Amino acid sequence: MSTTKRPPARKGEGQWALGYREPLNKNEQSKKDDNPLNVRARIENIYAHTGFDGIDPGDLRGRFRWYGLYTQRKPGIDGGRTATLEPEELDDEYFMLRVRIDGGAVTTEQLALIGEISQTYARDTADITDRQNIQYHWIRIEDMPTIWEKLEAAGLSTMEACGDSPRVILGSPVAGIAEDEVIDATPAIDEIKRRYVGDKAFSNLPRKFKSAISGLPDVAHEIHDVAFVGVDHPEHGPGLDLWVGGGLSTNPMIGQRLGTWVPLDEVPDVWAGVISIFRDYGYRRLRHRARIKFLVKDWGAEKFREVLETEYLKRKLIDGPGPEVPDEPRDHVGVHRQKDGNFYVGAAPIAGRVSGSTLVSLAKAAERAGSRRIRFTPQQKVIVLDVAESEVDGLRGELTKLGLTSDPSPWRRGVMACTGIEFCKLAIVETKARAVDLVSTLERRLVDITGEVTAPISVHINGCPNSCARIQTADIGLKGQIVTDADGKQVEGFQVHLGGGLGLDAGFGRKLRGHKVTADELSDYVERVVRNFVAQREPDERFAQ
Ligand code: SF4
Repeated sequence: MSTTKRPPARKGEGQWALGYREPLNKNEQSKKDDNPLNVRARIENIYAHTGFDGIDPGDLRGRFRWYGLYTQRKPGIDGGRTATLEPEELDDEYFMLRVRIDGGAVTTEQLALIGEISQTYARDTADITDRQNIQYHWIRIEDMPTIWEKLEAAGLSTMEACGDSPRVILGSPVAGIAEDEVIDATPAIDEIKRRYVGDKAFSNLPRKFKSAISGLPDVAHEIHDVAFVGVDHPEHGPGLDLWVGGGLSTNPMIGQRLGTWVPLDEVPDVWAGVISIFRDYGYRRLRHRARIKFLVKDWGAEKFREVLETEYLKRKLIDGPGPEVPDEPRDHVGVHRQKDGNFYVGAAPIAGRVSGSTLVSLAKAAERAGSRRIRFTPQQKVIVLDVAESEVDGLRGELTKLGLTSDPSPWRRGVMACTGIEFCKLAIVETKARAVDLVSTLERRLVDITGEVTAPISVHINGCPNSCARIQTADIGLKGQIVTDADGKQVEGFQVHLGGGLGLDAGFGRKLRGHKVTADELSDYVERVVRNFVAQREPDERFAQ
């Protein structure tokens, strides 16, 4: 029997471990009525034959997510109406589909297949997300059985790509090849995926659960529900430092270190302990409080560690140091030497937007350069691994022809954007096209100072108050909303957050009163901010300081 003093029960928080098993809202009821993983059989046996109109609404807007499927936004509905319409009025009959790519790692064969599926079933759409996934659009429910058959034959999956479940695990895009990584964390990611993804013990969480496991501080570990980051322990050697409770959206929080050193082979057990705490003690009553960060905030790191050790692991964890903090966030763009003497080449599409055809061509170009391995990054970039020095220049030329430059301007390199109004039902404004426009405008107008910007200035664009593009951690974060223009008209625009960052500058950007821009003024605004920064900064000053 546990000796741990249980935390005080907050009336009505819906914590299973405290006896609140009765569902307290529609989402909890839906998950209790039927485990969401069961929806796969209905898609294959029923909905793929009935088509969109035969889909049960509870599956359509709830359980489908456990297989990476969301209905996409009906074209032509402007952002001002997003909040006023019922979900069924926003639903198109097509789907967004996420392919989970843990650690962002694919072979060139897998990449080519991902591209071919896009060409055949997704109108050639493909976005690299900032969680190292690939996201398709225009998917028909009738095609899902075939898509799964093809993906799974190649070792790929959409299981728990979304939903209240353990989503894709971020990993270092240069795991196993970086000269300076503390440890290659890939075996831990693979083992967690093998043991726990699709395990019904963890398929009904209070809400989504985001993990990052990396031997380098290059996966935004500070803002994950759980993260393990490489550290060298003075006594025990290379292992991982455990963080819990980070997250963005409403009430953004930087994760807390539990002060533990975890050996690589114990990471899966410790990860399972943390996610079990979330499942059992997480708040289920209100969706907006149902992330682990609220529990961590109420308990504190010490209490969380005590419950983890006493109730779940049944043993003490080893104390350990924190990870080294990088001066600059690492995006792996450009040409870098691997520890085996080969090179990796990181390239930048704009805001992750590529296409199925581009991915097919990329796979061929990589193979011509002798590579069989590709990685996607949490900054919506792509890396070709294992390139011999003699092949580097040829590959870079081919990448450039594909719109994937490995020598991008700081503006192209620093921009990220979420899905936005083109496909997302929650969106208020357009994002991807704005990112493309912003990059080309800044490249044209800021030629005179581009050489002075030694580190990319990050500009992250969100289509709504959620934070899929991590706006609070950008130098310039843009949150889509309807604003009033100079003529008093309601138009698309952005609330600006300035000075956020990770690593050395970990902290959230300040939302400045009155810092709202219309979409039409966006390029002028960003140009002004950058010029002022460059003109007024101290030597070596970073934007977030
Ligand atoms: Fe959709 Fe909002 Fe997320 Fe953008 S930030 S993808 S608009 S939910």
